[in-house]
Amino acid sequence: MASHIVGYPRVGPKRELKFALESFWDGKSSAEELEKVAKDIRTSIWKQMADAGIKYIPSNTFSYYDQVLDTTAFLGAVPPRYNWTGGEIGFSTYFSMARGNASVPAMEMTKWFDTNYHFIVPELGPDVKFSYASHKAVNEYKEAKALGIDTVPVLIGPVTYLLLSKPAKGVEGNFSLLSLLDKILPIYKEVISELKSAGASWIQFDEPTLVLDLEPYKLEAFTKAYADLESSLSGLQVLIETYFADIPEAAYKTLTSLSGVSAFGFDLVRGTKSLDLIKGGFPSGKYLFAGVVDGRNIWANDLEASLATLKSLESIVGKDKLVVSTSSSLLHTAVDLVNEPKLDKEIKSWLAFAAQKIVEVNALAKALTGDKEEAFFSENAAAHASRKSSPRVNNEAVQKAAAALKDSDHRRATNVSARLDAQQKKLNLPILPTTTIGSFPQTVELRRVRREYKANKISEEEYISSIKEEIRKVVQLQEELDIDVLVHGEPERNDMVEYFGEQLSGFAFTANGWVQSYGSRCVKPPIVYGDVSRPKPMTVFWSTAAQSYTKRPMKGMLTGPVTILNWSFVRNDQPRFETCYQIALAIKDEVEDLEKSGITVIQIDEAALREGLPLRKAEHAFYLDWAVHSFRITNSGVHDTTQIHTHMCYSNFNDIIHSIIDMDADVITIENSRSDEKLLSVFRSGVKYGAGIGPGVYDIHSPRIPSTEEIADRVKKMLAVLETNILWVNPDCGLKTRKYGEVKPALENMVAAAKLLRSEL
Ligand code: GLN
Ligand code: ZN
Repeated sequence: MASHIVGYPRVGPKRELKFALESFWDGKSSAEELEKVAKDIRTSIWKQMADAGIKYIPSNTFSYYDQVLDTTAFLGAVPPRYNWTGGEIGFSTYFSMARGNASVPAMEMTKWFDTNYHFIVPELGPDVKFSYASHKAVNEYKEAKALGIDTVPVLIGPVTYLLLSKPAKGVEGNFSLLSLLDKILPIYKEVISELKSAGASWIQFDEPTLVLDLEPYKLEAFTKAYADLESSLSGLQVLIETYFADIPEAAYKTLTSLSGVSAFGFDLVRGTKSLDLIKGGFPSGKYLFAGVVDGRNIWANDLEASLATLKSLESIVGKDKLVVSTSSSLLHTAVDLVNEPKLDKEIKSWLAFAAQKIVEVNALAKALTGDKEEAFFSENAAAHASRKSSPRVNNEAVQKAAAALKDSDHRRATNVSARLDAQQKKLNLPILPTTTIGSFPQTVELRRVRREYKANKISEEEYISSIKEEIRKVVQLQEELDIDVLVHGEPERNDMVEYFGEQLSGFAFTANGWVQSYGSRCVKPPIVYGDVSRPKPMTVFWSTAAQSYTKRPMKGMLTGPVTILNWSFVRNDQPRFETCYQIALAIKDEVEDLEKSGITVIQIDEAALREGLPLRKAEHAFYLDWAVHSFRITNSGVHDTTQIHTHMCYSNFNDIIHSIIDMDADVITIENSRSDEKLLSVFRSGVKYGAGIGPGVYDIHSPRIPSTEEIADRVKKMLAVLETNILWVNPDCGLKTRKYGEVKPALENMVAAAKLLRSEL
C-alpha cells in the first residue's frame, strides 16, 4: 500500500524563504545565497517525506514565487514588455513578471481557486512564441535524485494552465485561449522527454480546473491534450490530480477515460460525491490516489474514519492500486506543529500541520497493509474524543443561541430609505459625504509600541497613551482635511481578523502557523476551535475615546463574521454556517455596546464575503444565504438612527449584487477604482440600489496621488448612473499600507473633488 503527497509548503518552517527573497530583492544578499536557502528547504522537505516512508514524493512543487508563474517561465510565455531575449529565464525576468520593475508593472495576480493563495495570471495571445525556457522541473528532479530520492515531478497540466490564463491586452475578443493547446503541448513533450531521460518513472499533472463547472468543449480539451501527449508519455506512469472540490460527473467521465493516464487523484475531504462516483465505477487496472488527509485545514485526521473509507475503496480498485494521499497540496496549511511550543497542549493534540499530515498519510497506508501502529491510532482516537467533549470547545448557551437563528430571518424593521432619512436628520451630512475605510498609515513607531506592549516591555498606561495620541492625530488630520465621517485609524490593530480573534473565546493563535498568500507574503490565520463568544467589549474603549476628540460622527469599526470566518482556520466538526452564526452573535453584542456608548455610525467590514463563494455555482445560493444572514444578524437590533456601513474588497461582485442589496446595510463602500466600468454597468442595467454607496474613487494599492480633476471625473461618471443623494466619496480600501506623504495630498484632492461637485450640483 503506497502513500503520496500532492504538494508541500515551500516557505519554510520559519518563513526562511520569505526572508531570503526579501533580502535578495533589497539587494542585501546574492542570488547564490537565495538559491542556497531554497535548496536547503527542498532538501529538508524531501528527506522528511522519505524518512516518514512516503512512496510518491513530489518535486517541482517548490517555487520562488508561484507555481503558475513557473509554468509561464517553463513555456517561455513572457509578455513582451519585460524585454526577455530568450534563453533560460533567470531571476531578473522572473521577478519582474512577479513584482514589476522600475519601468514596468507586475503581471496581474488573482486568487487560486477558493484558497487564500494568489497566482500570477498568464497573459496569452495568438502571437506568443512558446519555447522551453525553464528547466526547473528537470533540475529539481535531478537534485532530489542526487540525494537518493526518486520523486514524482509535478507540472500544472496544459488545460488548467490555459483555462487560468487571460487574453493579453489588445487581443481580440473572440480569441480562444484553448486554441493555444497545440502550441504548448510540444513544450510539454520536451520536458517529459527530459524527465524520462533523467530517470523519472512517474509524472503528476495538476488539473484542478476539472472540479469547476466546465462547458463540454473545455472537457474535450482534456481529452485532446492527453491523447496528443500519450505517445510521449509512454513508459511513464501518469497521475492527474484534481482537488478543492468534488468532481462533477461529466468531468469524472472525461478524466477516467483519458488515454495514457494511469492514475487519478481526488479530494475526498470536500464533499462525498467524488467518492460516490468512484463507487459507481472506476476503470480497472488504474490507480486511485485517495485524498483523505485535508490539505486545507490544520486538524488532525480522523484516522479510523479515513481507514474505513480507504477499506471501502480497496475493494473497488484493488489493494495494489490504492494510494493514500492528501486532499490537495499542503501549501494551504501551516508547516510544522513542532514550532508551536507555547500552544495549549490539549488544543495542540487536535492539530496536524503539513509535517504531521505526512505522518498521518503514511500511517494510513501502513495500516492498510495490516501494519497498523496501534499506539499512533489510539492516541489519535483519544485526541478526537477529547476534542468532542472538551469544555473548551463546548459552550451550551452559545450553541443554543446559534441554533435558534437557523430558521429565522433578522432584518431591521424599517426599510432602508426611511432609515437613511432618520439618520440624515441626526447626522446632517452634506451631499456626497466623504469618509475613509478605516485604517491610517501604520508607522514603524506604531508597530514598535504594539510589539513592546505585547512583550510586556511597556506598561498598559504607556500603551494606551501612545495609541490615544495617535488617534488624536488622525482625528485632527481628518478635521483639517474636512472629511465628514471620521475613523479612528485602527492604530491598535495588527490585523483586522486577529484583533477580534484575540478577544473572542474559541480562538487560538499560533506562533509560526504561516500560510503563503502570494510571493513572499504569508498570513497566519487564527484557529477557531470552539464555540465563539465575546467575554467583554472589544472596541468600545477606543471608539469612544476617538469620538470624544471630535464633534463629527466617528465610525465604530468592526470586522464582520463572514470575513472573520473566511480568513481563519475553521472547525471541521460543525458546518461553517454554524460557526459563522456564532461569530455573528458575538459581533452583534459589540455593535449594540457601541450604539449604547453613543457611536452612531458603525462599519462592519465584510472584505472577504465575495471570496468565500464556493467554486461551484450550485452551492452559491446556500453560501450567500447564510453569509448575508450572518451579516444582518450583527446589526438587526440597532435603532433606525444608527447608520450601518459595510465595506467590501474585490469589486468584482456583479454576480452577487442581489445578495449585497440583501445585506441591507445603510451604506456600502467598495473597492472599485480599477474597475469602474464593471460596477457602473450593474447599475446601468437597472439594478435598483437604494442604500448609500461609496465606490472607491482612487486605488490605495498604488503610491500614486490622484488629482482633484481625475477624482471629480470619476464621481461624475457614477453620478450619471446613481442618485446623487446615495453617493459617498471615499478611497478604495484602508490606508494602512500607505505613507502620510501620499495619504494627505490624496485625501485633500478627494475632499476638493467632492466640494467642487457639490458646488456644481
Ligand atoms: N477597515 C479596514 C481597513 O481600513 C478594512 C480593510 C480591508 O477591507 N481589507 O484597513
Ligand atoms: Zn478593502
